[in-house]
Amino acid sequence: MAGCHLAFELSKFPAEVTLIEQGRIGRQGASSLPVALINPYRGRSGRASELDLAGLASFWRVAEELRQHGYEPGTTRSGVLRIASNRRQANSWQKLSGVRWLESQEVPAIYNAPYGGFMVEQGGWVMPNRLLGALVAAARQRGVRILENCRAGQLETHTGTYRIANSCESLEADLVVFCVGADDHPSLAPLGVERVAGDMIGLSSKALLPLPIAGAVYGASRGEQTFVGGNHRPIHQEDPSAPEKLRNALGWFAPHLKRAPQTNRWTGVRARQADRTPLLEQLGPGLWVFGALAGRGFLCSAHLSRQLAGKLLV
Ligand SMILES: Cc1cc2nc3c(=O)[nH]c(=O)nc-3n(C[C@H](O)[C@H](O)[C@H](O)COP(=O)(O)OP(=O)(O)OC[C@H]3O[C@@H](n4cnc5c(N)ncnc54)[C@H](O)[C@@H]3O)c2cc1C
Repeated sequence: MAGCHLAFELSKFPAEVTLIEQGRIGRQGASSLPVALINPYRGRSGRASELDLAGLASFWRVAEELRQHGYEPGTTRSGVLRIASNRRQANSWQKLSGVRWLESQEVPAIYNAPYGGFMVEQGGWVMPNRLLGALVAAARQRGVRILENCRAGQLETHTGTYRIANSCESLEADLVVFCVGADDHPSLAPLGVERVAGDMIGLSSKALLPLPIAGAVYGASRGEQTFVGGNHRPIHQEDPSAPEKLRNALGWFAPHLKRAPQTNRWTGVRARQADRTPLLEQLGPGLWVFGALAGRGFLCSAHLSRQLAGKLLV
């Protein structure tokens, strides 16, 4: 997500840009998840940060821009529902601005919402593979080179430019931006980024979630499948009971899905800094890193990429 958004933003400038992906775009890494929510009203408090609100606005701006140029970004501006888990949470959420509070009887009846909840009218969800495909197609059309199945190795400096060892061809650049997600790279010193795994399961049912739900457990329906996520676990510690826990957690909010058969399981790794801020940092002359997007890479990448493109090329 980070690399594709940045390539898209950089394609608007008169610069020669090459995007290097070690696999196939959107087939690995955290951005290969089946669905992603676009919701800035996160965490227990439900309060939105300035960054997340800026991310939301930029996300829809880019989706619109792609559509205008004939690329379908796979986004749905459905709104996002957050359901309160208890009376105390409901009391505190009723004071939030920027969202619409719903009393219990105002929440669509398919959900269990005894304490009410709120609607994020500007929220929605996205099919990541579609968005990545649209960004890459639009960037390519404006001259960005896309090298897939090409692993970027060591960087060497040579008379003010970088030589990038890689598995496909000889590459030199004045500017290099690492967008490697939760992966290590031989030319990146340890950045103090922690890695946390998370699962997402697909449930098969004709009864869907008419609105995606966000919170400690989140879910959205795509076709006749509902995807559910929300757990966090150490990367090397498998949890065979994760799917059952996710289904049960969803079942409290959406009882009609409690017995839906599980069709698949996806696991990804979130990279994050201790203070949860994204990493957008200059490491040296012409050398940058853009990542640690934690659980909000889809929400914030468009905004951060635009900022970074401005810094790189002004
Ligand atoms: C379970 C789960 C649920 C989530 N839900 C949401 C959500 O609802 N909404 C939201 O906004 N965010 C969500 N996120 C977070 C989001 O998925 C991430 O923040 C985002 O995908 C990170 O994007 P990225 O580009 O930084 O990393 P990645 O998607 O991991 O991309 C890094 C890419 O770099 C490539 N790469 C690595 N090393 C090299 C190399 N040496 N050479 C070439 N290529 C290389 C990798 O192959 C990979 O494709 C979720 C994450 C998880 C795990």
